Amino acid sequence: MTSIESKRVQYRKYLERAGVIDALSKALIKLYEEQNKPEDAIRFVRKFMCESCPDDAQYDVMKNDLEEAKTHISKLEQELERLRGQIKKSPEEYQELTTEGYKSLMDDEENVSSLLRKYLTPELLEEYMLVTTPAPVDAYLYDCAVSGFEHHDAPVGIFAADADSYDVFNKLFDPIIKDYHGQMDNENDVLQKDPDFGNVDEIENLDPERKYILSARIRVARNIEGLPFFPKLTEKQFIEVEEKVRSATETMDGELVGSYLTMADIDAETQAEMVKRHILFQRGDEKLTTAGCYRFWPTGRGVYHNPAETFLIWVNRQDHVHIMSMAQCGDLGDVYNRLVNGLTELEKTLAFARHPRYGNLTACPTNLGTTLRASVHIRLPLLSKDPDRLIALAEELQLQVRGTDGGELATVEDGVMDISNKRKLGFTEFELVKTLQDGVVALINAEEELEIAGQEG
Ligand code: ADP
Ligand code: MG
Repeated sequence: MTSIESKRVQYRKYLERAGVIDALSKALIKLYEEQNKPEDAIRFVRKFMCESCPDDAQYDVMKNDLEEAKTHISKLEQELERLRGQIKKSPEEYQELTTEGYKSLMDDEENVSSLLRKYLTPELLEEYMLVTTPAPVDAYLYDCAVSGFEHHDAPVGIFAADADSYDVFNKLFDPIIKDYHGQMDNENDVLQKDPDFGNVDEIENLDPERKYILSARIRVARNIEGLPFFPKLTEKQFIEVEEKVRSATETMDGELVGSYLTMADIDAETQAEMVKRHILFQRGDEKLTTAGCYRFWPTGRGVYHNPAETFLIWVNRQDHVHIMSMAQCGDLGDVYNRLVNGLTELEKTLAFARHPRYGNLTACPTNLGTTLRASVHIRLPLLSKDPDRLIALAEELQLQVRGTDGGELATVEDGVMDISNKRKLGFTEFELVKTLQDGVVALINAEEELEIAGQEG
């Protein structure tokens, strides 16, 4: 007898000895004999097998108790988070945390590619360690770099805690920004041109026959002038952002008319379902957690959307607002037109933070400039059989390929991927949307060539 077989025999003997087989058989026979087969068969078996088990009424009471306890715990956790958020660190504590964080980042010899590690020299650390942005925010370098100090694999590793961070810690932010956005040689004072949405009519439906493109989306991020960014927003300010956005949306008209839902009012199941449909965000990213993005969650978070779900505003996801326009087809022109209209409307009431050199300000330096990401979810089954070629082609076209959940390309399902403009800073909004348009057209052409080659071959 093999060892597996002998183990199996031993186990069966043990189950018999312990009466398990007998008890299970009786329960199954009882169920078999039952005239009206219960919907919940497991509950029936459980009840039969365990006489001391709670009856249905008791079970319901216990379930309620558990729910209440869970709610209570989550309230206490929020309270704890809130109190933690109110503890002010002394300059000495900041100094100690910064020194430790820096040391652990620099000592790590495996994860060496973050831009924070690359540009935060010991001299800069010394210079900036005890400097703060203006009151009342008083952001330290640590407030910006804490996530990169902890997550050494972060590609960038730094967030601006407020608009002033970009100036106060400029000798660190500037090289990081130029490195990321590929503008190392551009020493001009102005990296980002003035906003220019161009001639919206030049952007078109990229797939009128609905053969390849499942959906199109364009988003921009904005932060309200005068309020800190997420790493230093107070609980009150999270609510202030929400209130300001909510009242700004009240004047929307036409297809932009919609309603605002605050996160706390959306039950967990609906949230999950909305995330799946790409119209809501969730918390969870570790790097953002460390950066302070989810403090006081779900306070101040929410979504504004029209009934068609083609125009949306996410409030306090990361930046104060993510404004987006979507379509369940390839009509990029329609999407772009609506985005421009929606943004123009919002700008009538809300003033957003802008920088003379970096354009629209976002907490993450990778989003600066236009902050615009135009994307399509597209199915290119033949091209995506050769990911290396596809990625090389996309690079050439200044496009980025992601999985449809926003993650790495590895998650491509059924040949569907997320393709978007790669650059955000140094070009106009129109140029970037046009880049996506031209690039997607080129990719569709390449796919069609493969189709023809396949038919001929
Ligand atoms: P961003 O940083 O532009 O907000 P993410 O990659 O974080 O983008 O994705 C946010 C959400 O938007 C995800 O649910 C993603 O699937 C969805 N999304 C992005 N592009 C599209 C698109 N073209 N069509 C439908 N959903 C999209
Ligand atoms: Mg994102």
